[in-house]
Amino acid sequence: SGRKSALVDPLQFMQLDAMLSAGERSLRQRARRVLEEGRDDKLLNELYERAEFSPALVDLAKQLGPAGLQIKGNGCPGLTQSETLVLAIELGRLDASFATFYLVHSGLAMASINVAGTPEQKARWLPRMARYELIGAFGLTEPDYGSNATGLQTTARKVPGGWVLNGHKRWIGNATFCDIIVVWARDTASNAIKGFVVEKGMKGFKPHKIDNKMSLRIVQNADFVLDECFVPEDNHLSAAKKFSDGTQMVLESSRAVVAASAAGCLLGAYERALQYCMDRTQFNKPLASFQLVQERLMRALGHLQASILTVIRLGRMMDEGQATMAQIALAKAWVTRTAREAVALCREVVGGNGIISDFGTIKPLMDLEAIYTYEGTYDVNMLIAGRLVTGLSAFV
Ligand code: FAD
Repeated sequence: SGRKSALVDPLQFMQLDAMLSAGERSLRQRARRVLEEGRDDKLLNELYERAEFSPALVDLAKQLGPAGLQIKGNGCPGLTQSETLVLAIELGRLDASFATFYLVHSGLAMASINVAGTPEQKARWLPRMARYELIGAFGLTEPDYGSNATGLQTTARKVPGGWVLNGHKRWIGNATFCDIIVVWARDTASNAIKGFVVEKGMKGFKPHKIDNKMSLRIVQNADFVLDECFVPEDNHLSAAKKFSDGTQMVLESSRAVVAASAAGCLLGAYERALQYCMDRTQFNKPLASFQLVQERLMRALGHLQASILTVIRLGRMMDEGQATMAQIALAKAWVTRTAREAVALCREVVGGNGIISDFGTIKPLMDLEAIYTYEGTYDVNMLIAGRLVTGLSAFV
């Protein structure tokens, strides 16, 4: 990269750092420094091509400090929602697969144990998860229950000393290699959905990697059948009486985080596209000097500013207890869709090279297809917001 643009850091355009508290700012700067020092784009692109995960990514995550995001105690960092979102922007900026691995472990899996586990269960798993000695996953989705996840059919049958699980889970991130999976299953006696910790190697549980994914290829998603899988009573997350107790909060926080990681993906793609357009010459002029190229770049920059402002405002509202599901769902849907459209503009201005992974715009474009879909699809999140705004449910 030779020619410098007049404004290199897009976060300075609307002075993002001035909106952050001192703590948020230093967290962002520290995460940026760690991830810039640890980043290995060649490795990420190779892993992407081979659709492989690497322990090097766990090591990089460790550099960011203990896992656990907003969990207080048990060796976890106790971040605010706003701090979590600021971190997620930086994770997404590096790589969306890395962000997904990080957030499934640190967010969905650990937060579920934190809200649904007893004090003994938290003390048993969370400190080791915070240190990445144990990696976690979150198993809610089933082949026939995606958007309609709470219709899940996996069963839990009470037996002396524990529970027997039967069913089929799909799309479970990290579950091909992780140590523990929070599995949600329906109690055959009460019909209530309950959480269980299934451990690697338990009889009746064998995960299979989902192949041929063209998005988030570094993340390993598993399909697995639970076949008379015995789980001891100690692994039943019994502190939550109902599925919605706490789990709702885990999913809401996670949806906001996904929006932030999508904004981060756009941030990374925009930076790469701007630099490319400064460096590349056509018709004896830098691409960045052409009107149409500037329009594409500024459209992407506008989308980026709006996405980040939405994410930061959402974090503030969540920390103040002011955000309902409507704000969170609309933010997730809108930011992921906006990022998906804006990253396509970044890809476009890089021309033919834009489809080569080394140039940093095609991977986020592919990845956003999954981000737009998981944690509630665009449609479902729009309809959740629509239901709260109109008072009319359009989807059930
Ligand atoms: P479907 O529900 O079949 O939806 C298909 C289409 O129909 C979508 O466009 C949807 O918007 C639309 N649609 C469905 N219902 C309605 C309706 N009522 N009104 C209007 N439109 C509707 N799950 C986990 O539990 N753990 C994980 O770690 C995990 N990781 C994932 C990682 C990846 C890469 C992906 C792709 C998925 C992951 N998921 C995970 C599952 C994810 O949450 C689901 O894919 C998602 O909820 C959508 O479900 P579905 O794929 O079955 O789509």
